[in-house]
Amino acid sequence: MELENVYPWQGKAQIPGEGSFIKLKEDKTIEVPDEPIIPYIEGDGIGPEIAPAMIMVVNEAVKKAYNGSKRILWVEVLAGDKAEEKCGTRLPEETLEVLKSAVVSIKGPLGTPVGKGVRSINSALRRAFDFYSAVRPVYWMGQPTPIPNPERVDVVVFRENTDDVYAGVEFFSGTEEAKKVREFLIKEMGAKEEGFPEDVGITVKPMSEFKTKRHVRKALRYAIETGRKNVAVIGKGNIMKATEGAFINWAFEVAEEPEFKGKVITDPDADPEQGQVKLVKVITDQMLMQLVLKPEAWDVIIAENLNGDYVSDLAASLIGGPGFVPSGNIGDGYALFESTHGTAWDIAGKGIANPLSLTLSGAMMLEYLGWKEAADLIYDAVKRTFQDRVGTPDVANGFRKMGIEAKEVSTIEYAKEIVSRM
Ligand code: NAD
Repeated sequence: MELENVYPWQGKAQIPGEGSFIKLKEDKTIEVPDEPIIPYIEGDGIGPEIAPAMIMVVNEAVKKAYNGSKRILWVEVLAGDKAEEKCGTRLPEETLEVLKSAVVSIKGPLGTPVGKGVRSINSALRRAFDFYSAVRPVYWMGQPTPIPNPERVDVVVFRENTDDVYAGVEFFSGTEEAKKVREFLIKEMGAKEEGFPEDVGITVKPMSEFKTKRHVRKALRYAIETGRKNVAVIGKGNIMKATEGAFINWAFEVAEEPEFKGKVITDPDADPEQGQVKLVKVITDQMLMQLVLKPEAWDVIIAENLNGDYVSDLAASLIGGPGFVPSGNIGDGYALFESTHGTAWDIAGKGIANPLSLTLSGAMMLEYLGWKEAADLIYDAVKRTFQDRVGTPDVANGFRKMGIEAKEVSTIEYAKEIVSRM
């Protein structure tokens, strides 16, 4: 099956003469034409294998859902190893320009070379477009899982993406900087010496009201729009009062804003009515336990950056791991969808990588465009591949471990199996 409507990079990004870019409106919502130009970054490692698989499935779903009245024009832009090889830089200016013009885009995994002083492209992209919420829906589609009754898991984790210990302000033990900060904290800020021995290392954890509130608004709007009822805001507010405690308090302040009046209830004993969501606070360690013991209790989890990192990976592992989970980095209108796993260098080039995470991210992107019919075709078809016990070796092996026979196919064959079930 040939890939349609794809414009590979040729010396520069090939913006087609047809179709048009998605528009970002003044109110930060998007206006989607019938033929949007959407940039894609293949990614490193298994990226060149899973990206065509995703495009094949998304193209077919759009074609089937809209009888050819809509289509995506895919423009390749470079980042990572391919960009370094062709342009001498891992994140070319051109890529940023096209992503900006296009508003919505999708990417495969990008590796960060260790020890070369190279900064992560993922975080550079996050900063460039202020993708302040990482949204990770975790749901089960029939794949092998480590827990019984995995249909209980259907939760969307909203992880704040720009705040917290990821700021990278750190002072290593034994350095002049650590000594200075330590002295300042003890002499000027009243910190107790026993908490700060001379060999201490310090990581700074900033958390802002503005950043928290815009993230919480996004999550609450999502919960209301999609009819999800049970929303938890998590944190160790009992220990880190100025950051995680404040995060929780700010979330409840957002719930009181006029936009959410009557729609978000916060009484822990009340039951939400039709159209309402209930916001409660849960301590992070409690949430980690609850996700394993009764995952059905939660529809949406609002987390700051570090807790969101832990919780989204735990939730993903309940339904088989990050290979089955999509992800979207979303800001004020701008959105970049991506696979949740890494570059998987150990299997790159073998044609056996599982394309589902990126493909489901493609479906998530379709939902973001408002093309839900096409997204649903993908979800249904993927479910049928699991019912029929077909998948890449990781899937087939998972079934075999459960004593179930399964058919093993390559990455692109898997995409074709999905397409044939639409
Ligand atoms: P990884 O996800 O690449 O690999 C972990 C294991 O999972 C490997 O055994 C791999 O073969 C397997 N795996 C991953 N994806 C798979 C798939 N689609 N199908 C089948 N098996 C799959 O994690 P890692 O080794 O920790 O990271 C490798 C590189 O990826 C690092 O440079 C890291 O920074 C980068 N990374 C990028 C992203 C991203 O771009 N969003 C996310 C995570 C890691």
